[in-house]
Amino acid sequence: MDLRPDESWAPEMGVVTGRMHYAILVAPGEFAHDAEGFRLALLIGAGFSQENICVLIGEAATGDNIVSAFKEVEASAKANPLQRVELIFYFSGHSGEFPAAILADATHSASHQVSQILIIKDCCHAEAMDLTLQRERCHARQHHGRIIQWSACSSEQTATGFTHRLSRFTGYLVAAFMGGKSNECPFGSACEGCRRLAYNASFDHTISTYDVEAYIAYHCSRDDGSGQPMQTPVFTGRDTGPSTIALFRPAT
Ligand SMILES: [Zn+2]
Repeated sequence: MDLRPDESWAPEMGVVTGRMHYAILVAPGEFAHDAEGFRLALLIGAGFSQENICVLIGEAATGDNIVSAFKEVEASAKANPLQRVELIFYFSGHSGEFPAAILADATHSASHQVSQILIIKDCCHAEAMDLTLQRERCHARQHHGRIIQWSACSSEQTATGFTHRLSRFTGYLVAAFMGGKSNECPFGSACEGCRRLAYNASFDHTISTYDVEAYIAYHCSRDDGSGQPMQTPVFTGRDTGPSTIALFRPAT
């Protein structure tokens, strides 16, 4: 039985939110720009604490550092059993560099303590990097119930990365965490995807992982005139709770 309190307990208990948010952002090679864009969205749009975001870019994007970062989140979750702890792992890079085996081990271990782990795979052929396929690494597949995976594109698609601008999927991911593109949306101010996100955010200034998925799917599935290859993001796994990954500001 899960004895963790839900968010409604928080005000009475005098704690801030009843949940803790962590992020591990990994970008080897030339993809630091995507990780930095997402880092800012987590800080500014989603209200993450700076100290809860671990950024591993370039030379620092090693397997050992990823394992250490997971261990830190795991330890924090263990030390705060009354908190719902959610972790976002974000990877931007070449699909050949995606640390699938390391992640399968790390998420398997962390899922005993961490309430929910969102793995964002921002690379070519992302859907093919499914962690649940790493069977030899993870015997207890039930723990994957706490893992949500977002793939920037399907198995056969490629994604273009840039040094000075965000790639297609990343751009909409960042925009969603910032509460929507608002007037800058390439589909105009009447864009249905933007309108829906703003509407859902208008109730309590939060949006769920479902809202973000819908926003990204809507925008990525249309030709936005950017000239970048078409990407069909794939979302697998479901929220373990009423997940509002963080507090968002509504688009204005
Ligand atoms: Zn839009």
